[in-house]
This record gives sequence, C-alpha cells and structure tokens, in this order.
Amino acid sequence: MSGRVYLVGAGPGDPGLLTVRARELLDQADVVLTDRLVPPGVLDGLRAEVIDVGKVGGGEQVPQEETNRLMVEHAQAGRTVVRLKGGDPFVFGRGGEEAQVLRRAGVPFEVVPGVTAGVAAAAYAGIPVTQRGVAPAVAFVTGHEDPGKPESQLDWAALAAFPGTLVFYMGVRALPRIAAQLMAAGRRGSEPAAVVQRGTLGDQRVVVSTLEKLPNAAARAGMRPPSITVVGPVARLARELAWVGEARPLSGLTVAVTRARAQASALAARLRALGATVVEAPAIAIEPLAVSLPEIAAYDLLCVTSPNGAARLLEEVRDARALAGPTIAAIGPGTAAALREGGIVADIVPERAIAESLVEALRDVPVTRALIARAQDARDVLPDALRARGAEVDVLALYRTVAAPLDDAARAGVDGADYVTFTSASSVRNALEAGATLRGPRLVSIGPVTSAMLREHGLEPHVEASEHTPDGLVDALVADAAR
Ligand code: SAH
Repeated sequence: MSGRVYLVGAGPGDPGLLTVRARELLDQADVVLTDRLVPPGVLDGLRAEVIDVGKVGGGEQVPQEETNRLMVEHAQAGRTVVRLKGGDPFVFGRGGEEAQVLRRAGVPFEVVPGVTAGVAAAAYAGIPVTQRGVAPAVAFVTGHEDPGKPESQLDWAALAAFPGTLVFYMGVRALPRIAAQLMAAGRRGSEPAAVVQRGTLGDQRVVVSTLEKLPNAAARAGMRPPSITVVGPVARLARELAWVGEARPLSGLTVAVTRARAQASALAARLRALGATVVEAPAIAIEPLAVSLPEIAAYDLLCVTSPNGAARLLEEVRDARALAGPTIAAIGPGTAAALREGGIVADIVPERAIAESLVEALRDVPVTRALIARAQDARDVLPDALRARGAEVDVLALYRTVAAPLDDAARAGVDGADYVTFTSASSVRNALEAGATLRGPRLVSIGPVTSAMLREHGLEPHVEASEHTPDGLVDALVADAAR
C-alpha cells in the first residue's frame, strides 16, 4: 500500500510558530525531506530518517527532480513522508509543483500550511501587513527574478500602482533594482519601506527607511538573506510597534547549552522563546546502566538526586506500588517534577538542589535503611552523611554521564557564544574535555557545585543561579543580560 506525503510548512524560524499538526506529523513520519530554512531544534529527536535536500548556504542543492523522486519512491514503498519547507509550502516554496508531481504519480498527499515569512517577519518587526485606513491589501511578490529581464513576469507598473503593501521575498540582493523599478513606475520614493532579516529568530534585524533610501540603508547595515522587504505606509509602524526587544530580553544573544541532548531541548526552547540564538553542544550524554532493582519496601528512605535519576527509576519500576513504602526525598524541585511525571509526589524537597541541602532537610527524619537512586559518578556527600548518622545506605547507580566529543563547529559555537550554560559539574568537565576553552563567553552556573568545578579548572563563573534549577539558571542569565 502506498504511503502518504505531507507537504508541511515549518514556519518562519521561531520554533514556537510550528503548527501543532506539523509537530504531530514530524513525530510520526518515517522519512523527513527538509529544506535549510527550517526552525532550529524542530528536527531533534525524530524517529524518522531525515534527508536534507536544501541549499547549503547558497551552495549545493539537491536538484528538484531528485527531491521529487525521493518523495515518490519513499511513499510508494509504504512510508509516511513529511516534505518540510520553511514558512508555508505553497508560498514561494514549490509546494504546488511538488503536489502536481505527487498527483501525477498517484501518491496521496496532504498540505499543512505554515506561517509564512512575509506576514510573520513583518509582524515580529512591528509591521502589520494590512491596517485599516492605511493598507487595505497586501501582495506577496518574488524579488528573485531579474527585473531587467525582458521575460520578467512582474508587471512593475501594476505593482507600483498596487493599492496596498508590497512584500518582497528573496529580494535583498536585488533591492536596488526593485526600488528603482518601483519608483520608475510611479511609486513614491518617500514611501516607508523596511527590510527584516531572519525575522522571528533570535538574531532578527530590522532596517526601516523610505523606498528611495532603503537600498543604501540596507547595504550599510549589511542585510543578507533570508530577508523580506516591505514597501508601504505600514512599514512606518515598525518604529511605533517594535516589540521583540522588550518581550525577548535575550534577543541578539547567543547562548550555548552543554546539557545532554535528551534534556537540552526544554532549556533550549525556553532560551529561544526569550529571543536567544541557541547553540546546542551536548558535551555530555546519559548512559543508562543495567540494574536489578532491590526490594524498595525494605527501605524507610528513598532519595532521588537528579531528574535523570528520577526518569531512570521510573523506567525501572514496572509497578508503582513498589515505591509505596519509604519516605521519598528529591534533591530539588527539578527532580521532584520529574518524579511527578510518573505520578510520584516526593515527601521532602529542599529548595536548593544540592546534596548538602538535602542532608539538612533530612536532619529530623528518622532513617534506618536508605536507598539512593543516582548517577554512578555522583558525589558521596549524601550517603556519607546518612551513614554518619548510623543509617545503612545502599547506592543504586542507574546511569552514568559520559563525555560526548564535540565536533569543530560545536566547539567553535561554544567558545564564540555570548553565554555558556552549565547545568551540572559533569557538563563543565565534559565541555573542557571536548576541547572548548570557555575563555570568551560569560559562564553561567546552575549552582555552587558546578561553580566549584569551574573554579577547579581556573574559570570564574560570571553568573550563578540562586535557584538551582534550569528555570533558575535562565532567570539568572536574563538578569545578567539586562545589566
Ligand atoms: N515558503 C517560504 C518562503 C520561501 S522563499 C515562506 O512561506 O515563508 C525564501 C524567502 O523567504 C527568503 O529569501 C526570504 O525572503 C523569506 N524568508 C524566509 N524565512 C525568513 C525569515 N525568517 N525572515 C525573513 N525572510 C524570510
């Protein structure tokens, strides 16, 4: 039986602007054929085989025929194929042509519209593409073709006379010619106009000017693709309505995340939502260890000392009733949250997620036998303290963290970032082992243990979170960036 092809829009860049339907299909797909201009992070952790058929920095692009062939063949082999495109698949995305190919080949398809750059990049620059009394219409125009060519499809006289906003895609390089053609055809040079580069992404840039002066202003600012150009009185509103800078305190900043890939995505997503450009540098990976679970009911205290430990424990415990006996202590709010995902509410949760705080929180709790579920390479502060109190303590090592070598690009990404975040002492060790120097960026530590590890390597943390959770770390970073 034939599979199906989904022609899916990935939105303009902000991962939050991917549709729910697109997310669902990406998670289910067998094969994803993707373009370059898809939002960062959306392809992480897919079960699908991902094939990049996009242009690499204006260079090699898989020929359209090859993309067509891949779509048809994978579908005919019974696979579910997502053909993922930046923005909307039917707006300058060749989605229409690909749909025709599929129809001719008898391959069933569906179209999942996306948020198109012409609307979204403008919106993120504070420009509504229509506005009552100002712009009653909007036209999306390709700026790609050479306006001087005799076979040009664009009717410049009609565009100049168009009673509304003109949005040019693929047009920054041709901006001088576009502006000249429009003015020659009668559009007023004094009309407001703007260029938005990498709209909706953390490093979005906006230049607002007039049609006449925009080409120079954009060149001076070094505006490059991907950019849209907006021509019309609405462009002036960018000055009044610009909102990204306020709402997104990390706009323009690059932040490296050194967590294991499995956990990095939530932190990365939060940072991106605040406007940061995130470099994911998973210098550390979680390796589950084979364990045979002891009888947990035989203990009167169960301590879980990391969110990973919680996740692994929940994986190993097949029957939740096994956890019914002991008092359960989580090292901090993050670990407690991870336990809650498995329906377990910890009895004891110190606010500061370090072993010393947990020891303190357990001071008045009677303990005879304790089980500590944790990483193999964790510190022994907690077991030592409990033993010193006369308790019998068993350590259940559920996983270990291993250094994951960074490739050259990731290493350069870390050292070139404005901030590098460390959510554990092992992420410090591993980033250094992976070859990062950590000399340029501001270093953000989740708490005192991680800071101590940085100092051990001669590095002074610039920022230390006062609440030792990923959210606390983000708050501390935002506060530092505001200074
Ligand atoms: N199908 C896409 C457009 C693909 S053509 C859509 O609906 O958005 C590629 C052009 O889209 C780029 O040259 C640029 O003009 C525009 N573009 C895509 N992403 C953009 C972004 N984040 N900011 C500004 N322009 C963008």
